Order: sequence, then structure tokens, then C-alpha cells
Amino acid sequence: MKVLFASESEKPEDWLPLLEKALPQDRFFLDGKERPDVALVANPPPGTLERLSGTKLVQSLWMGVEKLLADPALPRDVPLARLVDPGMVAAMSEMVLAHVLDWHRHLFLYRYHQQHATWRQLDQKLASDRTVGLLGLGELGSDVARKLVALGFKVVGYSRRPKQIEGVRRIADLQLFLEQTEALVCLLPLTPQTRGIIGGDNLRRLRQGGCVINVARGAHVVAADLIAALDSGHLARAYLDVFEREPLPPDDPLWRHPAVTVTPHVAALTDPRTAVPKIAENIERVRRGETPLDLVDREAGY
Ligand code: NDP
Repeated sequence: MKVLFASESEKPEDWLPLLEKALPQDRFFLDGKERPDVALVANPPPGTLERLSGTKLVQSLWMGVEKLLADPALPRDVPLARLVDPGMVAAMSEMVLAHVLDWHRHLFLYRYHQQHATWRQLDQKLASDRTVGLLGLGELGSDVARKLVALGFKVVGYSRRPKQIEGVRRIADLQLFLEQTEALVCLLPLTPQTRGIIGGDNLRRLRQGGCVINVARGAHVVAADLIAALDSGHLARAYLDVFEREPLPPDDPLWRHPAVTVTPHVAALTDPRTAVPKIAENIERVRRGETPLDLVDREAGY
């Protein structure tokens, strides 16, 4: 099998030794001029996608594929798979749990009090007093949900289709879902239906004193509305890992807002050690003429 590795972001030296070890019979190359059987892509160099017509599989090295789908150069006839990397799933859950606990146990307030040498004990709540609302119950959202349930939180979820996750109540109506939610976690794909979902009335419906954790895509949040909800005291905190413009410009007010935690799109990074076995499985499936795993539904946009 001839496999193209095309990325301006991922370093071939991190990937190719592992790929070559997992698939010794296949040939990996970096030059997009040759027609591959399979293309591994993440932020591919300009001119790559238009040459992939007839390729058996385009395999993303990232979980989110909205940029690839929006690129008119991506041939319509080629199956596109996204990466579901177990290492990323675990990393995402760690990040979300860290933020939920920071808010739940008032750690952000104690850090502030320490700066002012203020000794003040705040009310302690039980995890079962808190409702965490997960926008998105997919690969990432469902793992986060199970781990929050294990810690004793009440968990509600919002997804397109019904989902069975033990201890999690799926609420089909967005308004009702938001009205139950204190800590809102966004793990949706970015599509025309989900863009700007964390803004306006939707923010007002969240319970007083809650928080927003956005680890999906920056355009899910209307930043001005979020800042207004924090400034009014309706929300206590926002944890933001993703932004409409990345890197977040130095003069963006989110950097310095006292109620915002900014991280630089690091909630879950692709780890070639855990990703390569999934990619190898998909290449084997192509070799055997089977349907690859984690194919993107182009109609749904994710
Ligand atoms: P999945 O595709 O597995 O899950 C997406 C979930 O969102 C599904 O439950 C889906 O519903 C739901 N959904 C999609 N559209 C709608 C809609 N219009 N209304 C209601 N629910 C909807 O995605 P992942 O869990 O793998 O990843 C989620 C996102 O996380 C990625 O798209 C990416 O943007 C982001 N991400 C961020 C990273 C970071 O480092 N910050 C790292 C990796 C990913 P249904 O179950 O019915 O299909």
C-alpha cells in the first residue's frame, strides 16, 4: 500500500517510525505528487487535496474535521475518516474533570484569596448537588460523562440522536437541557447548526453561578455574550481552550479577564503512540476491502 503523509503541523519524524514499524509491508512518502492508496492528512500543504481523487481513504490525523470538510479541494468521491485516538479521549476527560473540579471546589476563588492573603472558608457542596451538562455525547463527551458520573455528579447530555450512557440523562430539548445545567461543557463538532450555540439566550438559561467549559471549537462561543454573562455575575467562570482566532491575539480581552482561564488548544493533543494503532487498523481494513472505522458523515458535517 502506498501511503502519503501530508501535514504542515504534524512532524513526520514523530509519526513515520511508528507507522513503518506497525505496517512494515507498506511504503510511506511525503511528496504529494505521487497518487497514494491512503492519505494521512492534518493541515495538508496547499495543492495536496485536489490530487487525492481515486484515493481509497483520506485519514485525518485529528479528531475535528471541519476544516477538511470546508475545503472545496477535498474530492467528493473519497471516504474520509477522522481519528479517534484513545490517548486523546483520556486526555480530554482529564482536562474537563480538572476544570469541573476547579469550579466545583472553588479552587479559582481560593487562588484569588491567596493572592490577597485572605483566609475564608467557602461553602462545600457535594458533587451530587451539581449538574454538569454535556453538549455532545460522542467519543469525547461520553467518556467525560462516565467519569463525571463515577465522581458522583449529576450529568445531563444533549446530542442529535438518543444515547444510552449509564447515569446520564439525555435531554432532547436544548432549552430544558440548559435550564438544568450549572457547568456547561461543549464537546460538539463545529457545524452550521452548532456555531454560536454558547451565546445570547442560551447563556442566560444556564443556572446562576455556573461555568462554561469550551474544549470543542472557538466558534461555538459568542465571546462578547460570554464576557457579559461573567461580568453580570450570572456565570462564575469560563474555561476556554479554543478560540475563533488561534493563537488568541495578545490584545484579546479574554486573556486578562479575571473570570476566564485560557489554555492554548491543548485539551487533547494527538499522540502518535496511541493514534498509530487506530490508523494501522484502518489501513488494514482498506487492504482487506472492508469499511474503515470512524468515517465522517458528510451530510451531517462531522
Ligand atoms: P463525535 O462526532 O464523536 O461526537 C459529537 C457529538 O455531538 C455527538 O454526540 C453528536 O450527536 C453531537 N452533535 C453533533 N451535532 C449536533 C447538533 N446539531 N445538535 C446536538 N448534538 C449534536 O465528536 P468527538 O466527541 O470525537 O469530538 C467533539 C469535538 O471535540 C470535535 O469535533 C473537535 O471539534 C473537538 N476536539 C477538541 C480538541 C481540543 O484539544 N480542544 C481535541 C479533539 C477534539 P450524535 O451522538 O447524535 O451524533
